[in-house]
Amino acid sequence: MSELAYPYEAPASQALFDRAAAVTPGGVNSPVRAFRAVGGTPRFMVSGTGPYLTDADGREYVDLVCSWGPMILGHSHPEVIAAVQDAVSRGTSFGTPGEGEVALAEEMVARVAPLEQVRLVSSGTEATMSAIRLARGFTQRTKVIKFAGCYHGHVDSLLAAAGSGVATFALPDTPGVTGAQAGDTIVLPYNDLDAVREAFRAHPGEVACVITEASPGNMGVVPPAEGFNQGLKDICSENGALYVSDEVMTGFRTSRAGWFGVDGVVPDLMTFGKVMGGGFPAAAFGGRADVMAHLAPAGPVYQAGTLSGNPVATAAGLAQLRLLDDAAYAKVDAVSKEIQGLVTEALTKEGVAHRLQTASNMFSVFFTDRPVRNYEDAKTQESFRFTAFFHSLLGAGVYLPPSSFESWFVSTAHDERAVQKIADALPAAARAAAEATA
Ligand code: PLP
Repeated sequence: MSELAYPYEAPASQALFDRAAAVTPGGVNSPVRAFRAVGGTPRFMVSGTGPYLTDADGREYVDLVCSWGPMILGHSHPEVIAAVQDAVSRGTSFGTPGEGEVALAEEMVARVAPLEQVRLVSSGTEATMSAIRLARGFTQRTKVIKFAGCYHGHVDSLLAAAGSGVATFALPDTPGVTGAQAGDTIVLPYNDLDAVREAFRAHPGEVACVITEASPGNMGVVPPAEGFNQGLKDICSENGALYVSDEVMTGFRTSRAGWFGVDGVVPDLMTFGKVMGGGFPAAAFGGRADVMAHLAPAGPVYQAGTLSGNPVATAAGLAQLRLLDDAAYAKVDAVSKEIQGLVTEALTKEGVAHRLQTASNMFSVFFTDRPVRNYEDAKTQESFRFTAFFHSLLGAGVYLPPSSFESWFVSTAHDERAVQKIADALPAAARAAAEATA
């Protein structure tokens, strides 16, 4: 049987979870979905419309997860659905090149100046894995620098001190990753340029690339300090290494051009996923044309995928990107600010120590009174307060990420009614957080 801390809230979800646990490890296909950090029954969703999700028990939630980022136009956006239906009507996979993937790549290249060439893949994990391989192949070097608390998917060599689910479960590492795979990864504290300089001094001529979340959202939202990303780029340039900006989460979310559109630091390689797939498995990596020229079949670094550039996924992604104009971002930013204000007000009123941190329209709450600049800071938060806060909101029909180490996401579909539902639920949730004990 699965966890029964909150047994009677969601009987249909609980029944599905029990069925799932019999055939799938932990009952889920991605660990954070299992609610282990907060306890209780994960909600099995059956439909989504606009800012709402409906679970198997027929309860409606305002969705502040948005599929962990992709659904920036809300669920079942009519134009995205129409594009998908049109694509499906012509077939679902050809294993040949097609126009949809060209159009999606053109749209991405047009939006993000440093993106001269892109290669489409099916997940963010594939994107970062391939970008690292390409960086190694291009520089003919082995070592990769990453930052504690940054999550780049479940790539073997990047699962050292990762955020997201790994942070939630406080796994220092994972069995199955060999010493050799992790041995070429150097993990440094986030927002610490001195540590990066020191690592380059200690490994002269060995570092292929530095990979960083453009603005981290996988240890909660911890934006780069002023000058940090530029400093990384400069140190990489001085040392013949590539600067790889992981925009899987921030790409086409934090602005038209993702985080690049916010800080303007020019990466050598970038990775994308989530928003660019419109709710389907599409992701990408790309950047400097001279680096991308090393990729097969143009160059010697191998990379491939049966479903890469899938016509249905690219149709969904392209439809979504084309709808994301300046007005759409202004809307997402405004609703994000409104919800941030409501959360701050409710927690302040109850005297709950907290830090609400933002990166454009991404935000999250840390239950601590100190600024959070890196993963060590993030781990000092009082997560037990988040658990109480989370369950109070869930009970009132507001769906937060089930972990205090995750960003919250909103969409253009979050309208007045949805915001009001959050506003109505927050006072009790803030009280629950205030009264929570470890
Ligand atoms: N990179 C970042 C910054 C992410 O947030 C994620 C997923 O959350 C990934 C990579 C991995 O993407 P995927 O889950 O599509 O493999």
